[in-house]
Amino acid sequence: MTNSLTIVQSALLAWFEQHRRDLPWRHTRDPYAILVSEIMLQQTQVDRVLPYWQAWMERWPTVHALAETPVAEVIRAWKGLGYNRRAVNLQRAAQAVVDRGGEFPDTVDGLMDLPGIGPYTAGAVACFAFEQDVAFIDTNMRRVLHRIFIGVDVPRPTVADRAVLEIAADAIPRGQGWTWNQAIMEFGAIHCTAKKPLCMICPVQEQCSAFPEIQAALAANGKVTRTKGIPFEETNRYFRGRILDELRAHEGEGVMLADVGSAVKVGFASEDYPWLLELVTALERDGLLVIGDGAAAQVPVGAVAEEPAVYEAMPVEEIRVRLP
Ligand code: SF4
Repeated sequence: MTNSLTIVQSALLAWFEQHRRDLPWRHTRDPYAILVSEIMLQQTQVDRVLPYWQAWMERWPTVHALAETPVAEVIRAWKGLGYNRRAVNLQRAAQAVVDRGGEFPDTVDGLMDLPGIGPYTAGAVACFAFEQDVAFIDTNMRRVLHRIFIGVDVPRPTVADRAVLEIAADAIPRGQGWTWNQAIMEFGAIHCTAKKPLCMICPVQEQCSAFPEIQAALAANGKVTRTKGIPFEETNRYFRGRILDELRAHEGEGVMLADVGSAVKVGFASEDYPWLLELVTALERDGLLVIGDGAAAQVPVGAVAEEPAVYEAMPVEEIRVRLP
């Protein structure tokens, strides 16, 4: 393993050197600029984020500038990126940093104390701004590490995220966390993609545990497919049921979104709020639950873009949902 790990490390670092895209947030170590990029990149493609990130950094070049801006203006600038709550969370994090005297925390734990920052974003900022050798995984990194070190990831991953995270930590070449994590991310984004990995020209083909099976799938179908579908426990249908179960257990009083998330999903983190909001919004549309209570009952979750100011007084985790 050690021998093959060394080969994989060298091969992927060399691949990154040759193929890396010239992304502006890779030229800075400013934690604010990195945080903006990481939050924008959640659930949004790089090409789409690029003009937004550039415009954002011109308009609010510092954490102080963002913290002082009215939230409605911040949300208007986010228009078109989707999941507007990310803008609110970003500004709340900026305000928390200003409250600390303008100094960003430089540890994963410290970063996670900022509002709206979960383990992935905290790890990414600690690594990409403070150059720490910390492990974190997004969808692309999970896929690459699973395929190389564990095996084929379809029809579903064979190990839990915790195990992949341990592999991610063990795989970081000491002192090269920044380059390594960027390399794994980039490799997953443009080479070892979900459906059409470029196995035939892969620099780690010989070391890759998934290569034989993925190659067979590519030869048979031209792409890697999830032939058996995703397990029911990972479907939105399953989570809709879990949410309603949770509300039934608290009939009448309602449950804060933060508690709903923790109750229905293992390892629920702030990055999961857009997903959870989509689910509760769909359930409300179907007449199965009500979002908000009392004054908050007017909060139209599906109408964020149109009425951004309503979120000023409503941190996402404190929104209540209840049975009708
Ligand atoms: S051989 Fe294929 S599946 Fe394995 S790392 Fe390379 S591109 Fe990914």
